[in-house]
Amino acid sequence: MTHYESIVIGGGVIGVSIAYHLARLGQRRVLLLERGRIGEGTTAQSSCILRTHYTVPENVQLAQAAWRVYDDFAGYLDDREADCGLVRCGYLIAAPPGAKSTALHEALAAQRGFGIRAEVIDAPAARSLLPIASFGDDELIGYEPDAGFADAYLVTSAFARNARRLGATVRENTAVTGLVLAGRRVTGVACGAETIGADQVISVQNVWSGELARWAGVALPLAIERHSVMSLETKAAPYTRQMPVFKDLGVPGLLYCRSYGGAQMLVSEGTPGEVLAAPDTVQADVPLDRVVDVGGQVAGRFPAYAEAGLASSWTGLYDVTPDWNPVLGPLPGVEGLWLAYGFSGHGFKLAPSVGLLVAQAVLGRAGAVPIEAYALSRFAQGRLLAGRYGAGAVS
Ligand SMILES: Cc1cc2nc3c(=O)[nH]c(=O)nc-3n(C[C@H](O)[C@H](O)[C@H](O)COP(=O)(O)OP(=O)(O)OC[C@H]3O[C@@H](n4cnc5c(N)ncnc54)[C@H](O)[C@@H]3O)c2cc1C
Repeated sequence: MTHYESIVIGGGVIGVSIAYHLARLGQRRVLLLERGRIGEGTTAQSSCILRTHYTVPENVQLAQAAWRVYDDFAGYLDDREADCGLVRCGYLIAAPPGAKSTALHEALAAQRGFGIRAEVIDAPAARSLLPIASFGDDELIGYEPDAGFADAYLVTSAFARNARRLGATVRENTAVTGLVLAGRRVTGVACGAETIGADQVISVQNVWSGELARWAGVALPLAIERHSVMSLETKAAPYTRQMPVFKDLGVPGLLYCRSYGGAQMLVSEGTPGEVLAAPDTVQADVPLDRVVDVGGQVAGRFPAYAEAGLASSWTGLYDVTPDWNPVLGPLPGVEGLWLAYGFSGHGFKLAPSVGLLVAQAVLGRAGAVPIEAYALSRFAQGRLLAGRYGAGAVS
C-alpha cells in the first residue's frame, strides 16, 4: 500500500492551502485527493472579498495574516508566476445608530489594536470613495483601505501548483470513499478498491463533510445553505474597480456589494440562506421575488440602481456551523484525523492563514492563533465564536 505522511481530502482553496503549507513546513509525502477538479467546489462560487473586519478577534488575526499573503502573493509563494488577481479597492461598512453601530465601533477599535488601518469616516468622505451610494449623517461608517477582492481560480491553482513544486502529489478525479481505521486510529483512506496509507488524514470537504461524519461514526454540526448572488448593471452609475467593497448593516439583507467585471455591481445577502438536505452544487434559479427584494434594498442605498438591469445571477453553498465560524483541529476519538470545515461563507479570505495554522497543528507546532479556539468541542462546551452582528457571514 502506498503511504503518505498526510492525506488531504478536498481540493478547494482551503485544502490546497493546507497541502501547500504541509509541504512548505517540510513534509515530503503529502497527497491531496480531489473528487473532481481543483477548485470546482464551493470555491468556484465565491465572491472572494478580502477584509479583516470581524468582531471575533481570532478571525481578525487570521484575516490580517491572510491579507499579508494576498498582498504579496508571488513573494509568499516564491513563484513569480503567481498572481491572486488582487484588487486593492478597500472596504466600507455602514451601520445605523443602535446595537450594530456599537458593535462596529468596537470592532474598528479592536482592529486598530492589531495595527490594522480601520478608520471611522464621515458621510462626505464615504461619498468621495463610493460616489454611486448615498450615506446618512447618522450612520457610523468604517473604512479599511487594505482590503478588496481576489480571484478564486488564480489563488487555488497557485497553491496547488506550488504544493506540487514542493513535492506534494495532487490527484484530481479521485473520490475518497471511506477511511481505513485500526481501532480508533486512522491509517489511510479508501478510494473505491484502492487503499492509500497515511499517518494523518485531513478532511477539507466543506458541504460534503457529512460523508466524513458517516465514515468516522460521529455527528458534525453542519447546515448546508444555498445563497444567491446577482450582478446588476446600470450605465448611469458603473461600479468601478476603484470603488470599495461595501457592507450595508442598515438593510434587512445585510447586503454586501463589490465591483464585478469592472462596471457591474455584484451583490448578495449576509443573512442565513435556504437550508438544503444534501449538498448539491447544481445551479438553482434565483426567484424573481428575491431579485425584486434585493434590488429594492440596493436602490435605497444606490439611487441610480433603481433603473439597473439584472446582468446575471448564480447560487452557491455555505457550510454553516452553529456560530458561523469554522471547525479546525483534530476530530476527538479518531487519532490522526483532522477537520477543516464550516467556513460559513467567509473562508476564501482566510485560506492562506488557515492552511498554515492547520499544517502547523498537524506537525505539532503552535500557530499565531491558538487553534483550540476553533475546536469542535466548543459547541458542546458553550465556547461559541459568535459574531456581534448576528447570524451571517461577517462573524
Ligand atoms: C456565494 C458565495 C460567496 C462567497 N463569498 C466569499 C467572500 O466574499 N469572501 C470569503 O472569504 N469567502 C466567501 N465565500 C466562502 C468561501 O468561498 C469558502 O469558504 C471557501 O471557498 C471554501 O473552500 P473549501 O476548500 O472549504 O471548500 P470547497 O471549495 O467546496 O472544496 C471542497 C472540495 O472537497 C471535494 N470533496 C468533497 N468530498 C470529497 C471526497 N469524498 N473525495 C474527494 N474530494 C472530495 C469537493 O469536490 C470540493 O472540491 C463565499 C462562498 C459562496 C458560496
